[in-house]
Amino acid sequence: METGGGNSLPGVGPDATKRKVCYFYDPEIGNYYYGQGHPMKPHRIRMTHSLLAHYGLLGNMQVYRPNPARDRDLCRFHADDYVAFLRSVTPETQQDQIRALKRFNVGEDCPVFDGLYSFCQAYAGGSVGGAVKLNHGHDIAINWAGGLHHAKKCEASGFCYVNDIVLAILELLKRHERVLYVDIDIHHGDGVEEAFYTTDRVMTVSFHKFGDYFPGTGDIRDIGYGKGKYYSLNVPLDDGIDDESYQSLFKPIMGKVMEFFQPGAVVLQCGADSLSGDRLGCFNLSIRGHAECVRYMRSFNVPLLLLGGGGYTIRNVARCWCYETGVALGVEIDDKMPPHEYYEYFGPDYTIHVAPSNMENKNSRQQLDEIRSRLLDNLSKLQHAPSVQFQERPPDTEIPEHDEDQEDPDKRDDPDADMEIGDSKHGDDSSRNPLSNDAQTGRIKKENMDAELKDLVAQNVVGDHAQPVVPTAEVPGPKSSDISPMAVDEPVSIKIEQHN
Ligand SMILES: [Zn+2]
Repeated sequence: METGGGNSLPGVGPDATKRKVCYFYDPEIGNYYYGQGHPMKPHRIRMTHSLLAHYGLLGNMQVYRPNPARDRDLCRFHADDYVAFLRSVTPETQQDQIRALKRFNVGEDCPVFDGLYSFCQAYAGGSVGGAVKLNHGHDIAINWAGGLHHAKKCEASGFCYVNDIVLAILELLKRHERVLYVDIDIHHGDGVEEAFYTTDRVMTVSFHKFGDYFPGTGDIRDIGYGKGKYYSLNVPLDDGIDDESYQSLFKPIMGKVMEFFQPGAVVLQCGADSLSGDRLGCFNLSIRGHAECVRYMRSFNVPLLLLGGGGYTIRNVARCWCYETGVALGVEIDDKMPPHEYYEYFGPDYTIHVAPSNMENKNSRQQLDEIRSRLLDNLSKLQHAPSVQFQERPPDTEIPEHDEDQEDPDKRDDPDADMEIGDSKHGDDSSRNPLSNDAQTGRIKKENMDAELKDLVAQNVVGDHAQPVVPTAEVPGPKSSDISPMAVDEPVSIKIEQHN
């Protein structure tokens, strides 16, 4: 079943080609609550959804309620005992599990709250479901609840519990020889980089604030290891970066990445904490500047998964992801907002766009030029696309599809929700975790996919035993030491449940 045919409206300008877009939204997502004073607010996803509904954008794409990710889906990347812990822990019983809380880094930045596991299942289900849709012919899939890039194989980190991005990329690797990951959150995309640090099948590119800032990783010298050398790219930035400075790096770098790497699919983490005025961030991007990254990656006409991520001034997060949904659809939405249930959040102007601040841009022209030329130089060491892309897809798996009913979910009216003075620390953990590159793919039926799986194993993306990596002095980076045998499980088929 489809709504609106799934094709976007023709937009204006040179890149107005229609795209078949699908969008994942769980109407319960806004009810999950990290706790008083915590800056991460799932309510922002509901605000975004409400804006999309009132701008009339939902009718231009297929809308799905994600099927919750199952234990075994999560265990394709995460450790069994970690997943079992997330499933069982509750706010009432957590005091009986002090050691486990500590071991899995759950408690402070990543608190135990009611429905924690369902929350993880919902946001991961949306990202994996989006990847399945891209594997089955959609051009763009959107899951604003996803993008939780800090989660590790057996550890929560930076408000993230399970790494939906790694899971989605593993799904895309079933169909695509190479997958590109791009991260424009203000924080380094450490969990994703770490998972794929030693493979040339996934290239990770992260643009982030670097220097005395959470999570502490993402040095320009971290470039990948072994077969993955030159397949991790880190773009370290300083406070106050504006649209022009940002795009002076983003476009040349991503243009060259697309030319050299030739990915079969792209995952773009659209963390909105890189916007001007973010409660935890310190960049100075406008929504147009942020969205320019979406516009640019979309212009390559490669299957694109758009995910959320950070974003702590929630009225601006909703503005940003609504506008970027329009960009995905090829629609330029009106600046003036339609009245809707969260309208009061957006005063006094009630517009999509807000002016960036006059804060100082600490990124000098010279620094930016140096970063760009150094990264372009690294890219030139990367050979042209390592092997021929698959031209044929194996037959699609049957996936039942049902429409999200598009009713407004429960409201939690809290216009000042993004005004709280938070104290959650983000910035004191710069330790590097062992590389967890034992993510596992599902069993794949087609012969060419068997070959692909062997390749994955050979490259240690999906397990097998790899040698610990000893970082060199010149190339500090994530270490590989935590490798467990591959367990191949059943293919993941994402069922779409009817809401109601
Ligand atoms: Zn962030």
